Amino acid sequence: MRILVTGGAGFIGSHYVRTLVSGGYPAFSGARVTVLDKLTYAGNLANLEPVEGGFDFVHGDVCDAALLAETVPGHDVVVHFAAESHVDRSIDGAAEFLRTNVVGTQTLLQACLDAGVSKVVHVSTDEVYGSIESGSWDEEAPLRPRSPYAASKAGGDLIARAYGVTHGLPVAVTRCGNNYGPYQFPEKLVPLFVTRLLDGRKVPLYGDGGNVRDWVHVEDHCRGIQLVAERGEPGEIYHIAGTAELTNKELTGRLLEAFGLGWDMVEHVPDRKGHDRRYSLDDAKIRALGHRPSVAFDDGLRDTIAWYAANSGWWKPLSGARR
Ligand code: NAD
Repeated sequence: MRILVTGGAGFIGSHYVRTLVSGGYPAFSGARVTVLDKLTYAGNLANLEPVEGGFDFVHGDVCDAALLAETVPGHDVVVHFAAESHVDRSIDGAAEFLRTNVVGTQTLLQACLDAGVSKVVHVSTDEVYGSIESGSWDEEAPLRPRSPYAASKAGGDLIARAYGVTHGLPVAVTRCGNNYGPYQFPEKLVPLFVTRLLDGRKVPLYGDGGNVRDWVHVEDHCRGIQLVAERGEPGEIYHIAGTAELTNKELTGRLLEAFGLGWDMVEHVPDRKGHDRRYSLDDAKIRALGHRPSVAFDDGLRDTIAWYAANSGWWKPLSGARR
């Protein structure tokens, strides 16, 4: 079996590749793995050092149809993580988000169709639905994205659906909440706050801190993706939810407590433009396939802090790219 992972040098893709190559997904054990990644600011081959030599690496862009026509044939399964992923950057400039997340996804799907790939998993996000005050979305909820990032991911999801319906491409979509864990680029909330506190610096809290996120450990996200790769139905969408629904203020409180620091380490900054108030996914469908999130939030957060504390050699060189 051959598996192609796009965006495998990023935060979540590299977790998937490290687990896959080290035998953590028994159904795919012994598979030959190819990672295709453009190595943008967010892609880092150091994320794959623990499994170096266990995969083939193709340095390239998912928008490059000629490269994909060479690379994709021969693969049985394609797991598509590659994306521009940071909402704040999409507010500063949306063009690259549309290019990679919409055109790149379409280019990859076409290459998968041409090559006769038997299973594609398109990795997406709860942000495509917009914002919800109470209750949870199921997979049939309308897409009402509110940031350029979310709109570009929704565009990718819709073209995946269209390739499934029109061409019969066997593609399933996963949508997950906010991830945290080791190797996350220190521009996202958890690693930004953790690395700043490790540096003795203040952390920037947006607006009133009341925005609610459902936190999913990267290990649980990747296990859900793997389950969909193994047993998900083509044409279906699967939600992957977490174990902790917290306001940003509550999360900040947990981090301060873990560091033994007080609220004087928090700098209140103007809210993000168009900031979604709350996301919440109903994950009954993937639970029916047997998935359960397994990392308790307090354990996951403690281990994540410990990882950043022990791996400053990984994140310090990235600080120029940190916001
Ligand atoms: P990331 O920004 O850490 O990594 C993205 C990777 O894609 C990088 O390695 C980058 O080099 C690569 N890439 C970007 N543009 C590319 C292109 N044009 N061609 C080839 N490679 C390219 O992102 P992440 O947090 O690991 O997210 C991975 C996927 O999961 C994304 O599709 C994202 O939308 C989705 N997702 C993320 C979260 C989250 O909380 N981080 C939650 C739900 C879904």
